[in-house]
Amino acid sequence: MRVLLVEDEKRLSQALQKLLQQERYEVDAVYTGTDGLDWARTNSYDAVILDVMLPGMDGFEVLRHLREERIATPVLMLTARGGVEDRVRGLTGGADYYLPKPFETAELMACLKTITRRGEVAPRMTLAAGDVELSESEGKLRCTATGKDVKLGAKEYQLMEFFLRNPGQILPKEMIQERVWGYDSEAEYNNLEVYVSFLRKKLTFLGSEAKIRASRGLGYALEV
Ligand code: CA
Repeated sequence: MRVLLVEDEKRLSQALQKLLQQERYEVDAVYTGTDGLDWARTNSYDAVILDVMLPGMDGFEVLRHLREERIATPVLMLTARGGVEDRVRGLTGGADYYLPKPFETAELMACLKTITRRGEVAPRMTLAAGDVELSESEGKLRCTATGKDVKLGAKEYQLMEFFLRNPGQILPKEMIQERVWGYDSEAEYNNLEVYVSFLRKKLTFLGSEAKIRASRGLGYALEV
């Protein structure tokens, strides 16, 4: 899940980024309405968390532009203004949810889960191949043969998810890069090597038979 956070209060933004990352969301944070619109237009997100009072362009304007351009990404609006008028304006302007500040973090997470679920096509399943399975709810990789499990970081999780969706296939490095780090990512290829080595260590720790094999400069394949 990839989320765009448009919030100009640095401390709140940082706290939310941390929270979202803990919940295994991938977060891009921007601090002005104009950047928010720009990023939401040019990237694909599962949700946008949009503050109302923003420099450059306010949240309602950003939302109006997005909906006019038929960008249907779910939007959760945050604001210090808790008035009914704003709430109505946000919802009629195409916001999916309106959360007045201050809010409890649990409330924010619940809203986010609700609005992102709406876009889902199929119910989620446990992804498995060979003797390993990925638990989405816990963010853990488990070996069914040994009964051991291990927690995965956000990137490790996305990478493993991609491998488990395509077991036995050689996945080109560029493709993995694009899927896990995004189109305009500045991450270097050696980043991928590093994460593959993390996953290999975890597979070894689990005592799994599954292996991530490098195929001569082409890419990687999960062999089970
Ligand atoms: Ca603000």
